[in-house]
Amino acid sequence: MKRLLLSILLCCCLLSTDATASNSPLAFSLHKLGSGKGGNTILVIGGIQGDEPGGFHAASLLITHYTIEGGNLWIVPNLNFPSIINRSRGANGDLNRKFAAIAATDPDLEVIQRIKSIIVNPNVDMVLNLHDGSGYYREKYQDDMHGPHRWGQSVIIDQENIETAKFSDLGDIGRKVVANVNNGQGEKTSYRLKNTKTSEGDTEMAKSLTYFAIKQHKSAFGIEASKSLSKAARVSSHLRVIEAFMRYAGIHFKRSFSLDVASVERALSDNRQIAFYDNRVYLGMENIRNKVNYFPVSRKRALDFSTRNPLITVVPSNQKFDVFHGNEKITTLSPEYFDVDEAEHPPKVRFLVDGQVIDAKMGQVIRAQKQISVVPLKGYRVNFIGFSQRGTRDEAGITIKKKDFIKRYSLNTKGNVFRAEFYRNDPKTNGEKFAGMVNISFADDNTPTQVAAAMLPESEIIREIAIPETKK
Ligand SMILES: [Zn+2]
Repeated sequence: MKRLLLSILLCCCLLSTDATASNSPLAFSLHKLGSGKGGNTILVIGGIQGDEPGGFHAASLLITHYTIEGGNLWIVPNLNFPSIINRSRGANGDLNRKFAAIAATDPDLEVIQRIKSIIVNPNVDMVLNLHDGSGYYREKYQDDMHGPHRWGQSVIIDQENIETAKFSDLGDIGRKVVANVNNGQGEKTSYRLKNTKTSEGDTEMAKSLTYFAIKQHKSAFGIEASKSLSKAARVSSHLRVIEAFMRYAGIHFKRSFSLDVASVERALSDNRQIAFYDNRVYLGMENIRNKVNYFPVSRKRALDFSTRNPLITVVPSNQKFDVFHGNEKITTLSPEYFDVDEAEHPPKVRFLVDGQVIDAKMGQVIRAQKQISVVPLKGYRVNFIGFSQRGTRDEAGITIKKKDFIKRYSLNTKGNVFRAEFYRNDPKTNGEKFAGMVNISFADDNTPTQVAAAMLPESEIIREIAIPETKK
């Protein structure tokens, strides 16, 4: 039993997030998986172009659903985050054409400098840059969508060999990986090796990330999935290729789902949670409404949020806050400004749920069958959103049935998840401070009453948004 616990703790420690990086909502993140103690290191880069979701979702799943047990995997899943949320090739022009030269005034300058410094890090042995490309690359012309002019389902090299100590025979490695990937695959999703022969006059490819890498004596490959495939099928294709590279480089991994398209689809949507203010507020994204009203936002401090999903972020827009997962806008938070309680330990609250005593922390989710009440807590007031009783400001002590909630105030479109918001009396100002939120999820089946933990502290990505000066 003890050993099991230790190994779980160790696994958590193996994932570290780049501490030096900016924590602004659209800065790219670097995630280091593995022991850090020897073995080869592959750097995987997703999201260089924001309209190629197969690549950046594959990179993200490596972080959320893989464990590296030998060797190291470094991942940047969201290199061009502004272009990801804009669904554009490049918010400021094509980032993959700025590696040979970039103007000092270019808004992408910092991104280029940061990613170049990661690529040239002495620990990095191989670089994989993920793309979704048009059609299917095939050596001979078959039709408009299949031929040498297309990019999809290919592993790309700039030249056959480079001068470097490790993984220098790009052509041989690429052919072995492609053979490994194609073993047992149908023709449609099979891969080919494409050599752009960049140094022989391909001026466009000479500006790219992989060409920069090989100029720095780093083994580098482009990986393309076909835009003709569904998003989940592209992700599956990318992961098959990345795994073949990992096997080639002796990097041992475990994956928590299978690579068929339906399983990939589920994996893409099962890790979409976000928490605000040190886990005082939690939002699950499953069936969340496209607008959440009266969302508590601090007047005085930045809106900080944490998530385990590197493609989830929050962006201010028109006095509101948009929550994105990759290039999908999940919901818009319409703020209501409060002072947020800074107490180090937010209160624990006692609920009576279907006759059972349940103690919950802020940011947790309680599953209930029929009814709920809050045991009054000295110095605090509770407000259930979507329930009101004339003349009552503090709703502690009232037994509220599922049918007493007004459905349109629910957090989710199914109409069964509601917010209980807690406020601490502030005797100094005679006002009150927002202390946190507990979500009540009424079951539509026989799920037993329980408290569900919202977020684990390990492997979070923490970002923050400055609140506009006018709200202070
Ligand atoms: Zn691309």
